Amino acid sequence: MSIREGLWDCPACGAKGVLGRYHDCPSCNLPRADGVRFYLPKDASEITSFVQISDATAGADWYCQHCDSGNTATASACQHCGANRENNPVHQTRTYAPEAIPHSAKEAEITPETPLPQPRKKLGKGKIIAGGLTLSTGFGIYLAVTPSHIPVTVSEFAWERSVVVEEYKTLRKTGWDVPQGGRALGQKRAFHHYDSVLDHYEQRTQQVCDNVQTGSSTYNCGSRDLGNGYFQDQTCTRPEYQQVCHNETYQQPVYRQEPRYATEYTFEIEQWVAISQPTIARQDHTPLWPKIKLGDKQRTARPKERYSVTLTDKDDKAYAYAPDFKLWQNLKIGQRFTATVSHDDEVLALEPAEQP
Ligand SMILES: [Zn+2]
Ligand SMILES: [Zn+2]
Repeated sequence: MSIREGLWDCPACGAKGVLGRYHDCPSCNLPRADGVRFYLPKDASEITSFVQISDATAGADWYCQHCDSGNTATASACQHCGANRENNPVHQTRTYAPEAIPHSAKEAEITPETPLPQPRKKLGKGKIIAGGLTLSTGFGIYLAVTPSHIPVTVSEFAWERSVVVEEYKTLRKTGWDVPQGGRALGQKRAFHHYDSVLDHYEQRTQQVCDNVQTGSSTYNCGSRDLGNGYFQDQTCTRPEYQQVCHNETYQQPVYRQEPRYATEYTFEIEQWVAISQPTIARQDHTPLWPKIKLGDKQRTARPKERYSVTLTDKDDKAYAYAPDFKLWQNLKIGQRFTATVSHDDEVLALEPAEQP
């Protein structure tokens, strides 16, 4: 812990950079008084002489209340007026963080007595810019999804109708049970599924690492104003860690797959089965259902119908539209509408065109 000699400025005559070792100003000869602040130039060198080191380590100066002169800690009476030391005030000692060490008289005046690193709060402008970007993006989406209104004319119809023809058939099936209405024909043991069964354990090795304190290192953590013209470097220690790894063994379970068997049935059952799907599709305005001649044990099911209309705008651009059957039936070729069209040309609604 090195000791360095500080400086002080004489408040009486204005002499600057007086060495810390002097208790009296070499220019005006007046003693340094209570309230003087010491500072440490950046290039202050370490003191090595025995006399200086014992002065520095003796303790802080005390100030005579009779004549306001500074005296070394070892003096029991004032070296200027001879008054007893008694309970006279002592120069305050201070510890400075590295960045807070006063390097000039001015810094020594304004440096707080217990310097603490100031937390720096940064108000980001980025947040405001990001907000602006979000707003403009939202505006763009709004423009893109706004549907447009286009005058159109009905130019073509189309429709499609279909039914499914089903037949009641006897089927032969297999399963893990016989459903209601089924007649069992036979049964056998058959593979059903695999079960995972614990077979044995395998010893495996894995690496485990820990941060272990291996020692400590010292670093400069500031300087202490000893209150007598000298400053002492402050040394702090911090722990040093190293990653230490070792191998650990553990038991890994190993499973085997065991097949499980169950009774599988073969059975007969009657079911409705789709055998065809007659469909009519045409581009006119007179929809029909397919005419079907049903045989024995046959029926129709699941009728489906679709209706669409082609709408044409003034540039002959065609839009497909699929209204419900009632609206479709009432449309006429050449009829005019205002179509609400999405950005990807889907007709969302039809409104009767305004009279010209
Ligand atoms: Zn002076
Ligand atoms: Zn005195």
